[in-house]
Amino acid sequence: MGDIVVIGAGFAGLEAVRVFSRHRKTLGGRRIILIDAKRTFDFLPILPDFVGGRIARDHAVLDVAEYLERLGVNFENGEVASVDMAAREVRLKDGHALGYEYLLVCCGSVTNFYGASEIEKRALKLDSADDAAMIQNTVVTYPQKSFLIVGGGYTGIEIATNIARLLKRRGTRKYSIHVVERQEDILMALPEWMRDYCRINLCRLRIQLHAGVSISQLTENGVTLSNGLRVDDCLLIWAAGVQTPGFVRRLPCEQDPQGRLKVDRTLSFSEGAFAAGDAASFVKKGRVLRMAIQFSLNEGHLAAENILRLCAGRKKLKVYRPLDLGYLVPMANFRACGTVLRVPVRGFAGWVLHYIMCIYRSLTLRHRLGIVSDILFR
Ligand SMILES: Cc1cc2nc3c(=O)[nH]c(=O)nc-3n(C[C@H](O)[C@H](O)[C@H](O)COP(=O)(O)OP(=O)(O)OC[C@H]3O[C@@H](n4cnc5c(N)ncnc54)[C@H](O)[C@@H]3O)c2cc1C
Repeated sequence: MGDIVVIGAGFAGLEAVRVFSRHRKTLGGRRIILIDAKRTFDFLPILPDFVGGRIARDHAVLDVAEYLERLGVNFENGEVASVDMAAREVRLKDGHALGYEYLLVCCGSVTNFYGASEIEKRALKLDSADDAAMIQNTVVTYPQKSFLIVGGGYTGIEIATNIARLLKRRGTRKYSIHVVERQEDILMALPEWMRDYCRINLCRLRIQLHAGVSISQLTENGVTLSNGLRVDDCLLIWAAGVQTPGFVRRLPCEQDPQGRLKVDRTLSFSEGAFAAGDAASFVKKGRVLRMAIQFSLNEGHLAAENILRLCAGRKKLKVYRPLDLGYLVPMANFRACGTVLRVPVRGFAGWVLHYIMCIYRSLTLRHRLGIVSDILFR
């Protein structure tokens, strides 16, 4: 009998260990070990608001060790470098190795620079609360007040609108914000009315959109775009795609183009190994589920239940049946658009619904109250 190792203290990983901690008897003495490279759980959906100054850092992060202590779960603070599936061993960057009987991979996703190493060296990204703090600090101190965000997906749009908010609140009058999107429009996966809504709102915030355009050259402090436009002395922020961390992409298991592990209906990708959240590629009606909190939480829960079944010697595992509650694109000027329970939502109502989701999904009462007070008073 060995340990249960969970990689990643994000939405899926923390949900899984909560389930394990409630079923100690079924674990039969097995230890639960949660590994994370960070010491905090970062509540990703409100990081753009942290950039914009609406939400305080303290209400966007949670101390993982403290939280796990209450659940009676062991925390290993370290970065996973590789997993030896045959030897059932997880190896950390510092050389430390942990054996496992059951493995649950919940390591989420990280920014993908698509091998553009020069851009990676120069650009900021938004993967963590530290990244959000770095963007906020750099924006307020950046002398030229020219900002170029690459990627017109959810994250790029949210960052751009929050930089606009931050600058406005600080009384900055002269600035330029650019969003560069390689495809012919922003948010290409979304219906046309939502794209129209977001485009109009970006225009309202004086954010310049360059669709069907990519970076063709990096200049000393700026960029030249493929349409010939030069944006000099700008701060570059990269939000043009994500992929799973390197150790997942190196696993000898089937993956999709983003390096997400192809899981079966029970969320298993190999014997005794499961994946949940952004790290898992689950196909429903021919389409891979998008990366979202609701799926991460449900998958973390179900994967833990299936591991518990295996611990109890049961052969029949639960099948994952995802239910899509909808999605929203929140923007910093009290506007959002999306669908909730298949009903189209836009404007202030959508913005409020986004924060209701954040408050509901927050892990502690302190965080919930903190978010409410930030929204009302910051
Ligand atoms: C800016 C932003 C805004 C978003 N807004 C929304 C939203 O409004 N609604 C929504 O539904 N979804 C939103 N998402 C997506 C959502 O946050 C993700 O789908 C969700 O966080 C995935 O959960 P997870 O548990 O799979 O991974 P995460 O929550 O990302 O957690 C992964 C954990 O694994 C750890 N980890 C990674 N690699 C290693 C390693 N090698 N070794 C050790 N630990 C490692 C990380 O440190 C992290 O703590 C947003 C994402 C971002 C980036």
